[in-house]
Amino acid sequence: MQHILAALPYAMNALEPFLMQETLYYHHEKHHAGYINKLNALIKGTDYEEMSLEYIITQSDGAIFNNAAQTFNHNFYWNCLSPVKTEPSEALRRKISEVFGSMEKFKEEFLSSALNNFGSGWTWLVLDQHEHLKIINTSNAQTPIAHFETPLLTCDVWEHAYYLDYKNERAKYLEGFWEHINWENVSKVFADKEHLNIIGFCK
Ligand code: MN
Repeated sequence: MQHILAALPYAMNALEPFLMQETLYYHHEKHHAGYINKLNALIKGTDYEEMSLEYIITQSDGAIFNNAAQTFNHNFYWNCLSPVKTEPSEALRRKISEVFGSMEKFKEEFLSSALNNFGSGWTWLVLDQHEHLKIINTSNAQTPIAHFETPLLTCDVWEHAYYLDYKNERAKYLEGFWEHINWENVSKVFADKEHLNIIGFCK
């Protein structure tokens, strides 16, 4: 099957002034679309053509893995952002406080991991295979679903995610990211992993 670029779940200027329209245009229409186009070209005529995106990620390496994982990571990322203020569910807030001490401590730890994620990559809140909540950094295209971990939240720290707005100042991008997290989606995935289906993750 051919993979398609889903529309953004908000208008391209909806995240301003955190991220300007031009940033979302290049990130979605050029970078994200580019991974999908390359993936479609690479899998054409191969067994991968019959697999779901998530299955390809667990079965491939090299260029096919990189483009499939980047397709998934961006599908997931767009749904982690919201133009309006949202709040985590009580259950998620309780779990985060239990594991990290408080929401404030979690924020510090998540943003510090993202700031120190060297080079290009992603910072995630995941549930591991034992249902433990943890923060992980991945490099380049790497993704938790390749290791059967369930992502709840991700932040893209590739420079293309923030360079037009913040240049070298990743910390400023991260502060804005924190204010625009779509806690409703994060909470839905936490409440019921089946909700991953609605944000593009199918086992
Ligand atoms: Mn990106």
